[in-house]
Amino acid sequence: MKNESYTVSLTKNPVINMNVFPGHFTTSHFHTSHYLDLDDLKTNVLLARDVAIEMALPYLTSTLVDTIVCMEGTEVIGAYMAEELLQEGTSVINSGRDIHVVTPINNVNRNLMFQSNMHELIYNRNIILLISSISSGTTLNSALECLSYYGGILVGISAIFNASPQKFEQEINSVFTCEDIPDYRIYNSNECPMCKEGKKLDAIIVHDGYIKI
Ligand SMILES: [Zn+2]
Repeated sequence: MKNESYTVSLTKNPVINMNVFPGHFTTSHFHTSHYLDLDDLKTNVLLARDVAIEMALPYLTSTLVDTIVCMEGTEVIGAYMAEELLQEGTSVINSGRDIHVVTPINNVNRNLMFQSNMHELIYNRNIILLISSISSGTTLNSALECLSYYGGILVGISAIFNASPQKFEQEINSVFTCEDIPDYRIYNSNECPMCKEGKKLDAIIVHDGYIKI
């Protein structure tokens, strides 16, 4: 993308960083002032492992986990997170247990669902929901609806980025928040000030990647 990007790093472990592109972007639900490139954090195995170690921390000594449900391409992080939660150690509550890492699919109506053979990994299981980026909450809400429909017991929500920590009633453990990008904004498309100024869109954000316009 032509826009000037900059990097935001996690103070605790600066290897974990994301490229931030200011501009004018649209998703299917809202317009936003920034595109966050989280690809490397999700697909580069060494980085994904570092992210997973960070994301496992809130659960390590306190939360029994049976299944990690991965949304938006977070499967590599999910697998390392499971490994981290299963490590040997007297204070590690999941040592010696089994943890499964699964992803729902979209049905023909674009609703999230699990295939029948996956139901036993969701029903009555302790579940961590793993999401790449939470902005408007659309993905979060449809995932929560899906887990509730299949009878999962939600024990935690984790995200790489959470745009509005105040907005959601559920506690969300996130690596980065809007405080790391102070001018990050999302708008309903019919109320977007950039559109009102006649500013052209730079790209469409799709499944957490982008398509240039
Ligand atoms: Zn706009």
